[in-house]
Amino acid sequence: MIRETFSEEETIALARDLGSKAVPGQVYRLDGDLGAGKTVFARGFAEGLGITEPVSSPTFQILKEYHTGRIPFYHYDVYRLSDESEMDEIGYEDAFYGAGVSLVEWPERIETLFPEKCIDIKIETDPGKGFDYRRISIEGLQDQ
Ligand code: ADP
Ligand code: MG
Repeated sequence: MIRETFSEEETIALARDLGSKAVPGQVYRLDGDLGAGKTVFARGFAEGLGITEPVSSPTFQILKEYHTGRIPFYHYDVYRLSDESEMDEIGYEDAFYGAGVSLVEWPERIETLFPEKCIDIKIETDPGKGFDYRRISIEGLQDQ
């Protein structure tokens, strides 16, 4: 499934809709370059889960978790991870295999840790279509 958005608000709305339909055990791999809109997407997704507290980038903490929504929400940004073994300390098994939903920015850095079935979201820019244009592809939702 491909969606195109033309503003931050449209990406928030799309992610909010996905968040409202998210179910426990889902892991969303969120791919895209720096500034593509991964954290913006996470913000909308959290809204859809009923989380009202502000969602900011977990870059320095690697993981931020939210327990005020419909189900627990684990938001990872693994950009600064030095290697996959660091994830053991941070904790991912409860997140990936538990009763919550996980969303991971920079998923290629922890490739081997993911469960077999994940949902892949890719956010891409296209300078030819304007500064605020994003092409968002969503794969794997139907095989859940
Ligand atoms: P990332 O987490 O991928 O590094 P951020 O979500 O932190 O990126 O930042 C995305 C930036 O792009 C924000 O400044 C946001 O306002 C801007 N932006 C412009 N257009 C869009 C769009 N259509 N969707 C999402 N973000 C957009
Ligand atoms: Mg980010």
